[in-house]
Amino acid sequence: MSEPIYLDHHATTPCDPRVLERMLPFFTEIFGNPSAITHQHGRRAATALVEARASVADFFRVKPAAVYFTAGATESNHLVLRGLALEGKHLITSAIEHPSVLTPIRDLERKGVAVTVLPVDREGFVDPDSVRSAIRAETALVSIMAANGEVGTIQPIQKIGEICREREVPFHTDATQAAGKIPLDLSEIPCDLLSLSAHKVYGPKGVGALIVRPGLRLAPWLTGGGQERGLRSGTVNVPGAIGLAAALEIRRSEMAGEAERLTAMRDRLRDAILDRIPGTWLNGPRRSRLPGNLNIGFEGIDAESLMFAMRRFSLSSGSACSAGEKNPSPVLLALGSSEARAVESIRFGLGRSTSPADLEILIADLESSVARLRPMEGIEK
Ligand code: PMP
Repeated sequence: MSEPIYLDHHATTPCDPRVLERMLPFFTEIFGNPSAITHQHGRRAATALVEARASVADFFRVKPAAVYFTAGATESNHLVLRGLALEGKHLITSAIEHPSVLTPIRDLERKGVAVTVLPVDREGFVDPDSVRSAIRAETALVSIMAANGEVGTIQPIQKIGEICREREVPFHTDATQAAGKIPLDLSEIPCDLLSLSAHKVYGPKGVGALIVRPGLRLAPWLTGGGQERGLRSGTVNVPGAIGLAAALEIRRSEMAGEAERLTAMRDRLRDAILDRIPGTWLNGPRRSRLPGNLNIGFEGIDAESLMFAMRRFSLSSGSACSAGEKNPSPVLLALGSSEARAVESIRFGLGRSTSPADLEILIADLESSVARLRPMEGIEK
């Protein structure tokens, strides 16, 4: 079989060769430890790190001191949830956060932190007024993602941030799926903490950042050498940081054009599937949706069987972290989907490599696979 066509850009993206090229010298020539500033090897790495930090800061329009390099969004989210003084306090989150937010929150809850999990509407939106009503005197954090990777919903983080700022509650957003795909200007959005990962935007895996509003105090989780101004000990992943900065620099010039191209292709794909294949439905919203994201249900067909039939494409039924388990997606359930419908839904993640020709093949394959699978599924039932 020829190389499968990649349609899972929310799980991860290939590293852009331009990013890799910028990273390579930092593995071999400029390999110094950026903390070893007694010599030129270390100082060269330190200088590059200063530049990478400034570049990431510039992307989000914050000061370089606000940027902390991490091993990815999971770590950034944990830094927030473990690092803020939340004992005896209250926090607010949403029902469709990534497990790297919801799992540590459940741990906090077991330790006595009061937690409000806000519901979302049928399209996956958090109502900013529900945030306002949930804030109490002891609320010490609001954590609402910028965009959801399964159903693409882009949250009203500007409004949510304004409410939090007004009530003086720190606002964290997990922007892993949003950063580099939609504008995120933190000189406009009142956001105190923002998490991201490089590999979602054509950068390397295993590196990310946490943006922290200066003045906000977080306790370190990894301690030792005191790197990242004491917040994250461990020799900094210099090639990774360079890669993150390079990936974001490229996004800055290409994001708007690519968003337009992907939105148009995605909308055509959505309409073609919904028009041409009976018994299909859209999960998530029609507007305020991540450009490359589409999530469609196929009545009477198990997503696993459909993905197997469609193995010419790399597809996913939801978050990669829960793929392989046959559990209905908690995100789809939170949007009001039944369990049956949730296991009949597939995510299509379009990205830079996706062409209109790929989607023509996809639609034709879907039509024939659905026609083939439906009678069989009927007999099995
Ligand atoms: N948050 C969100 C919204 C995500 O989509 C992901 C990755 N699927 C993560 C956090 C975790 O990112 P990483 O695996 O790079 O730590």
